[in-house]
Amino acid sequence: MIRIDLHLHTTYSSDASIPPKTIVDQLYAHPTIKAVAITDHDTVEGYHKVQKLASAYPDILIIPGVEVSAVGGDLIVLGVTELPPKPWTVENLIDFARERDGLTIVAHPYRAPGLGDQARDYNVDAIEVLNGASTPHINRMAENLAKTTGLPGVAGSDAHRVHELWTVYTEVQASSDIDEVLRAIKKGLVRVFSKRDSIRF
Ligand SMILES: [Zn+2]
Repeated sequence: MIRIDLHLHTTYSSDASIPPKTIVDQLYAHPTIKAVAITDHDTVEGYHKVQKLASAYPDILIIPGVEVSAVGGDLIVLGVTELPPKPWTVENLIDFARERDGLTIVAHPYRAPGLGDQARDYNVDAIEVLNGASTPHINRMAENLAKTTGLPGVAGSDAHRVHELWTVYTEVQASSDIDEVLRAIKKGLVRVFSKRDSIRF
């Protein structure tokens, strides 16, 4: 089992201020969360920087990703190390991810710019049911979307500032290996947790 923050931003997102080195230092020092997906807005540069810094630490795992400003709402693509070509339609992003054994997650579906109920129309792999920057009500709506679509529900802090890191996390039934983690998420071998209540949301 591995605990992962599946959604956060570095200084490579224009609206975020978390230095890549801080992510690596905090992950190294964190007692239980040892993995993270770097999901900057429309760039993978932050991932490459964090990965380079983390390569000296074998016990932490950096999952490549990007939060794409897709047509209709934000979509997280995990397991890709390059930016998808435009146009960024949800269909194109799903195809791009599949061709690279990656996956797609609907980020904060009911908080703008989220896909909302439109998410039901697409063959995405998971729904972000616990977003550290969303209200409990908005997160419950996302949880309901995951239940009614039968899709796995995952969690990510969506941290843009250092103090927002690790507020929520996803427990994945996998070892510290990117392919294994992505396969387990697709299979729904996940549970979401919030630091605030430490029970399933
Ligand atoms: Zn985000």
